[in-house]
Amino acid sequence: MATVASAMLLIVLLMLAAIDLRLDIAADTELVQQVAASQELRRTGGIAAALDERRSSDFERRLLLLAGGGLLLLGVAFAVAWRFAERIERPMEELRDAVNQLAGGNWATHIETPEGGYGAGLARALENLRLNLSDHAATGRALDIMLDSMNDAVFVTSPEGMIKRVNVAASQLLGWSQGELLGRELAYVISDQDRTNFNIEQAANDMLELTVRTKNGQTIPVSLSGSVIAADDPRFQGCIFVARNITERKRAERRIRYLARYDTLTKIPNRLQFQHSLQQAIARARKSDQALALVYIDLDHFKEVNDTFGHAAGDRALEILSERMIGRMPNGTMLGRLAGDEFAAFIENLPRGEDNRAAVAALARELLDELGRPFQLGQHELYVTSSLGIAFCPQDADNVVDLIRDADAAMYHSKQNGGNSHSFFTTEMSAIAVERLMLKSKLRRAIERDELMMFYQPKIDLRNGRVVGGEALLRWRLAGHGDIPPMQFIPLAEESNLIQEIGEWVLKRVCNDYRSWQDQVPKPGRISINLSLKQLRQAEFLTRYRSVFDDTGVAPSNFELEITETTLMTDARRMVRLLDELYAMGLHLSIDDFGTGYSSLSALQQFPVGTLKIDQSFVRHAAVSREDATLVRTIVEMGKNLDLEVVAEGIESKEQLAYLRSIDCQYGQGRLFGEPMLATDFLQLLVTQARGTLRYGGMFG
Ligand code: C2E
Ligand code: MG
Ligand code: MG
Repeated sequence: MATVASAMLLIVLLMLAAIDLRLDIAADTELVQQVAASQELRRTGGIAAALDERRSSDFERRLLLLAGGGLLLLGVAFAVAWRFAERIERPMEELRDAVNQLAGGNWATHIETPEGGYGAGLARALENLRLNLSDHAATGRALDIMLDSMNDAVFVTSPEGMIKRVNVAASQLLGWSQGELLGRELAYVISDQDRTNFNIEQAANDMLELTVRTKNGQTIPVSLSGSVIAADDPRFQGCIFVARNITERKRAERRIRYLARYDTLTKIPNRLQFQHSLQQAIARARKSDQALALVYIDLDHFKEVNDTFGHAAGDRALEILSERMIGRMPNGTMLGRLAGDEFAAFIENLPRGEDNRAAVAALARELLDELGRPFQLGQHELYVTSSLGIAFCPQDADNVVDLIRDADAAMYHSKQNGGNSHSFFTTEMSAIAVERLMLKSKLRRAIERDELMMFYQPKIDLRNGRVVGGEALLRWRLAGHGDIPPMQFIPLAEESNLIQEIGEWVLKRVCNDYRSWQDQVPKPGRISINLSLKQLRQAEFLTRYRSVFDDTGVAPSNFELEITETTLMTDARRMVRLLDELYAMGLHLSIDDFGTGYSSLSALQQFPVGTLKIDQSFVRHAAVSREDATLVRTIVEMGKNLDLEVVAEGIESKEQLAYLRSIDCQYGQGRLFGEPMLATDFLQLLVTQARGTLRYGGMFG
């Protein structure tokens, strides 16, 4: 109001001044006209003087008027400015407080838009800023909550490995508080044994298994997976590591390895471990230019013990006898159980080039005496005799397979002579070897004679009984020999280049079968094909495989290649490259006979495999032995954790099936669903299923 009034007063004053000026000019004009009319031009000097006088008095008046007006104007302007400043200051103070609040980290209070509109734009901008900051703060807090909710330990480090942030799980794992960890190098928490090899750059681009040390000096195995944080802002650059406690998995792995290598009944090495150790002993003997002896031990008529007294008594007898043998073995001798009632031992450090038969014969006789002593089994006293066969390395054979074969042949010789005796291997005994040679030459003609056949064993989804594919298994139908299983002739084929030819034949056969199934069933499922090490080692393996898929026109994605754990780990680096190429072709890859090799699961993770097949030796006892049951369950869980499909092999009974289903094992195959079948029968199975009948549905309730 005051502003408006002052402005009006100012206008009135200015108007008065203007009217006054106007009147003066009018008076002057009139005067000039009068003088002009009277024609008294010569008196103009008088007129000018009158005019001058009049003008000077007018000028003073106006000057006064203008000065007054100006002062008034200044006063009014000052009043207006004062008022204006007063109206701006308060909102500005409020905004300043709001900014201080934001600076102090309080994003919660809403910033009001001030009344009267002064600073409204600024207030709105600040409110937007507050909302944004509040969002960011919430995101930051959410991140903290998420990190602290994780079961895995998380470490954020600088690019050099200095710990900048850890979550709750990290300090729980290590026993150090978060404060104690910040600012330390990540290597500080790595155990002494792993620290020297620990390299932060490598760790940030990899997944490692190592042990960390806790505050109280314990070591814990973890899988450590690192990533580089890519950020333009150097403050955020660094690495992030996730460490998972794998104690349980390591324990399970040790257990798997133990069970895979040791006989659970007698606690001595099983065939696999025995062969492995024998191989190493042969290498040692070669290096030190010494000889070694292999003693093959087979209990005579042991079947009768089982049949007469039952399997539990038979098991007890085996325990007693193996303990007795161990008691008799000289130092540095290894005893293993090769199968049921078959054992073997090797004796190292024999002088090469000398006749060691007398020394070994003495040991053999001691063993026979010890084994032949009667023992008590419940109410009964019984005794068992044995047959022993002995072969020497390098005289008789210089590799594991041949040495065992020769000692076995010698043992057979003892047995044929009535048992309870020992024999040394002689070349005349190698009838088996001769047979092998004959088989080998026959195998050469097997392909031409059309004696090879492909069988298919269905793979079942254990949730519902659906057939989801099958495994292709090779048979050799040799007149007079019946069906020879692959375990007998694949090793023969591997001794020559025949394996390559056979492998190619298998793939062609399976592709052709698959194509003919596709004519009748749109999706025959995934068929797996077994590959042996020698096949994978063939230089032209990839090109040949590729050309079979091209020629038959069946997509590789319909197939899965089964490779055993042991094959994978032999020359692992080359295998990774090869498998990557196979995978790139669209083939699926699986680890066959899992549990029987020597690798750790983490070592297997480097291969692009998608499926884990649990070896049938574990599945066999899963329904009755608590130990094996735990083992199978652990493998299933581990497989799932690693995103692998898990297939249980060799399901023979409903109890095994029920157990596997109870632990959510996804897939299975085995005799329970029928023996491996011909391609036509397999097709029939698929056709029935496509029409809506699940052949095995009944078993799945
Ligand atoms: P694998 O890949 O582990 O195959 C499973 C073996 O278990 C097969 O023996 C199968 O007939 C047998 N089987 C199936 N169900 C049951 C069951 O319920 N209980 C028991 N105890 N066994 C069962 P098969 O056919 O004698 O093959 C033996 C091995 O020979 C295979 O083991 C595989 O490693 C190899 N093999 C088979 N076909 C080929 C082939 O075409 N090429 C190569 N390189 N190897 C092959
Ligand atoms: Mg297989
Ligand atoms: Mg298998």
